[in-house]
Amino acid sequence: MSKVGIFGGTFDPIHLGHLITAQSVKEIRDLDKIIFIPAYISPHKTDAKPSSPEDRLKMIKLAVDSIPFFDYSDIEIKKGGVSYTVDTLRELNKKYDKLEFIIGYDNIFTFHTWKEPDEILKLAKIIVLKRKSSHPPQFEDKYYHQAVFVQTRGIEISATDIRERVKNGLPINFLVPPKVMEYIYNHKLYTE
Ligand code: ATP
Repeated sequence: MSKVGIFGGTFDPIHLGHLITAQSVKEIRDLDKIIFIPAYISPHKTDAKPSSPEDRLKMIKLAVDSIPFFDYSDIEIKKGGVSYTVDTLRELNKKYDKLEFIIGYDNIFTFHTWKEPDEILKLAKIIVLKRKSSHPPQFEDKYYHQAVFVQTRGIEISATDIRERVKNGLPINFLVPPKVMEYIYNHKLYTE
């Protein structure tokens, strides 16, 4: 029986917040591994201009390559276009017995607007990342009630902040793995 966690996002860049959280979820949910899946175009960020999919995927690869319980997939990048969770889960469902799809706390309150939310629930268990500081629920719908909330170690790191810091010449040493930092500098990412 393979039970895997799916962690999707833009990952521009992947950072220690993502990695620490993924490690917690793996342990709390007793998963075999966590698969990081960068979106080609995130449905929630269609007007943002992220780094190229290749750069984002390479940084994920550098971050997880030596970690046995982490993996990555280029399924959404290969497919191109807007990356819908339902399509990705349909594909992964053919390969794994049980899928757990990890989302940030705020996402559960917009989940009803996602493409085919009921189908997503049939394909995977929804795992919502909750922190001690998370605000009380804005409302509780059927998706909220079917989700599993996990309290993870929260560390306040955001990719937006990392991009800003690089742009402003500030260090990012303790925010991303060393190899990712090297990649960002060698490829002159986030300087514009
Ligand atoms: P941005 O600042 O560009 O919006 P981000 O740092 O939030 O990026 P995403 O790639 O959008 O990163 O996030 C992917 C997933 O990781 C989302 O579900 C998001 O909620 C979650 N996430 C982001 N930052 C953290 C963090 N510090 N701890 C735990 N989860 C996080």
